[in-house]
Formats: sequence, C-alpha cells, structure tokens
Amino acid sequence: MNFYSTNNPEHIVNLKEAVIKGLASDQGLYMPVEIPKLPHEFFEELPSLSFREIGYQVIGALFGKTLTSQQINQLVDHTLTFDAPLVELEKNIYSLELFHGPTLAFKDFGARFCSKLMSMLMEGEKRKVRVLVATSGDTGSAVANGFYKVPGVEVVILYPKGKVSELQEKQFTTLGENISCLEVDGVFDDCQSLVKQAFLDEELNDKMLLTSANSINIARWIPQCLYYFYAYSRLPKSDKKLAFSVPSGNFGNLGAGILAERMGLPIDIFVASTNVNKVVPDFLHGNAFQAKASVSTISNSMDVGNPSNFYRLLALYGNDEAVFRQKVKGFYFDDADTARVMRSIKDQTTYIMDPHGAVGYLGLRNLMRMFPGEYVGVFLETAHPGKFKSTVDQILGIDLELPERLKEFMKGEKNADSLGNDYGQFKEYLLKKLS
Ligand SMILES: *Cc1c(COP(=O)(O)O)cnc(C)c1O
Repeated sequence: MNFYSTNNPEHIVNLKEAVIKGLASDQGLYMPVEIPKLPHEFFEELPSLSFREIGYQVIGALFGKTLTSQQINQLVDHTLTFDAPLVELEKNIYSLELFHGPTLAFKDFGARFCSKLMSMLMEGEKRKVRVLVATSGDTGSAVANGFYKVPGVEVVILYPKGKVSELQEKQFTTLGENISCLEVDGVFDDCQSLVKQAFLDEELNDKMLLTSANSINIARWIPQCLYYFYAYSRLPKSDKKLAFSVPSGNFGNLGAGILAERMGLPIDIFVASTNVNKVVPDFLHGNAFQAKASVSTISNSMDVGNPSNFYRLLALYGNDEAVFRQKVKGFYFDDADTARVMRSIKDQTTYIMDPHGAVGYLGLRNLMRMFPGEYVGVFLETAHPGKFKSTVDQILGIDLELPERLKEFMKGEKNADSLGNDYGQFKEYLLKKLS
C-alpha cells in the first residue's frame, strides 16, 4: 500500500515513509492510493467474528501487500487489548464505548497501533526513533501509554507547566522507562513551537531520527476504522438505515468512519457533531470551509478551529463537495445544550455521558428527529466521564467514582524535567539524552 499527499497526488511514498514522516513535505496529509473493498463474504461472516478477527481482515486488506500476515496479527493483537461495547441507550440509539483502554479515551486505539507499527518499520535500523509530542493533556497520555516499553522508540513529551490537570499529568509523568517528560515554562503553543523547531533543525536531524505521533499520522488515523466494523457486527439486524454520529474536533475519527464506509461497510449517513467550534457543520450547511480561532468549551478535546483532517474527508469523497454534503450531516451544540442532555439522559436512563459523547448523542438525536422512524443510530462515546470528573460532577451534582485505572495513575510518582521556554535549552537536552 502506498500513500499520496492531499496537496499533490503525484507525491507518492511507501508505508514506512508515510508513518515515520507523519506529514508530507508539502504539508499535505497522506492518503491510501487505493481503498480496498472488502468481499461480500466478509460482511456475511461479520457477526460471528471477534474484534481481533475483524481487525486481521481489515488491516490485512489495507496493509497486506506491505506487511506479513504475522506482522498484521501482531499489530492487531497489540492494539485490541480491550473491548468497545455497544450499549443500547434508548430504542434504536446505541452508545459505542471507546473508553475501555489504558487512558480511557478512544485515542488509545490509534496510539497503540502507531507505536507497534513504528517499531516494526524500524526493525533492523541502527538508529532509534525519537518521538516528540507537545500536548495539552489527552494526546500525551495516550501516546505515552501506547509507546511505553516499545523497543526502538523513545518518547519525549512536552507539556505546559500548570496547564494540565493533575490526573492528565500523572498519566504520562509516572511511567518512566522510554517515556521522558519536559514541563515547559509556557503555554501549549510554546511546547508545539519547540517541537516544530526541532523538526526543522538540520543539525539535530543529522544526529537522530525525529518523528511525531500526532493525530494526522496515518498510523494513528487508519486503525480507528476498526471499531466501526465491530459496532456494525454487534448491532441487531434491522430494516432501518444506519447512522453514525461522531463528536469531532480534528475530524480524524469521523474520517476513519468514512474510510470504513468506502471499504464497503453499509453506513447510510454520518453526523459530524461539534461544539461551538463549528467550521465543519458550517461547511456542510453550504458555506465555504473557513478556519477560525478556537473557542473554549466543556468538551475541550474538540476545541479545534482549523481541523487538520478536513481535506482528508474531502479526498475520501473524491474531492466532490456535493457528495460530501449529502453523506455527512453537521450539527453543533453549545455548553448549555450539552449539560442539559447529560442531565436528562442520566435522569431517564441512569447512563452518564461525558461532555464529548453527549455532543455525539445530540447530533444523532437531531438527525433522527428530522427523519422519524428511518434510522438506527450509533454515537461514539469517546472518553470515560471520569476523565472530566469536575465538569461531570458539577453538571450532574454527583461525586463520580473514578475507575480503578485512573486511581492507579494517581498513586504513581511524577517524574519530569523542567525546561524554560527556550529552544537552545531544549536542543541541548535532546543532544545530551542521545549520548
Ligand atoms: C480527541 C478527542 C475528540 C475529537 O476527535 P477527532 O478525531 O480529533 O475529531 C473527541 N473526544 C475526545 C474525548 C477526544 O479526546
């Protein structure tokens, strides 16, 4: 399988280059040159297959020409170590719980797959890969846990001092081993700018192999298609049309659903559900795509004003905006809508949604109200409500019990080096760590 850049279809690279580089040199996103269609028999078999068996076949169809079947099985086994249960909330409305992984958010799927694939692609190389990650919280925890103890890969996480919650900080600073953390005296954008300068520094790049594990990397993006197949396989048979609603920020997760549909999964419609950072719903309602500064909300992992994966979505629809608008409906909701629905769902069903999942539920419900009786719908519940405990407690007036896994992280000892917001200091740190 080869990949082209969304900025230039002639710019084609192999899997290794696409994964190690992350972003194409022309700043485009890598996309599969061809999208394989899964055979009819696969869809007939689906209900009897396990999550991993589905993974072997889907990843096999995508990467089977580049990786051996043993490598594909190893990749899938390493990624799918936890379930993604489908919970029926109301008649014809299901929550796909993607938060049963090590850091309790769906980003665990992509991070685990990415780390394993990178280490496979680096086998036999003398140099280690050094992954640099700037994080405002959630990405750091998923990447750190995904890459923990993975051979041949070292991770350096930069985060803004005092700007991430204690729970988030503990999820990456307590691991040690191949995970190093730098607490930067600055804000998230400063961390990101330090990382970007390192990628552009020729002297550093001559001495070490630097890469990113950021969400536009195909190794984080592609595996997210797996749980759409799995959810479909577990839905009861129905004559109704099928909708998936995806609470979205950078739009990687929704893009992976569209990839599954392009591979033959019979999804009739997608709902792009956002908070007030609504540039994609605005586009879907007929406006031009226009990036904006992001606004803070209670579903903060979706506070994205310039979603990187937009052009990837467009590419999946053959760059045809009319088809895109026909297959994806967009809705946005403010914090008051989100809080209100979290309360009403808890009152009616006892189910506790996190603010991101609640946005997904709202989008689905809008669609189903527009077309009464036509759809069965699934919304993606992207994080455990415990990850946003203070918000959830305040909205619902409860004291949510933290899951064991989060409590375990809280027991660990924080280990991070301090760094001024200074590139010279950062470079010296990287060079020293190398020797
Ligand atoms: C990252 C994140 C999202 C947004 O996912 P995208 O792929 O960027 O659209 C939604 N919910 C949670 C909890 C997240 O961490």
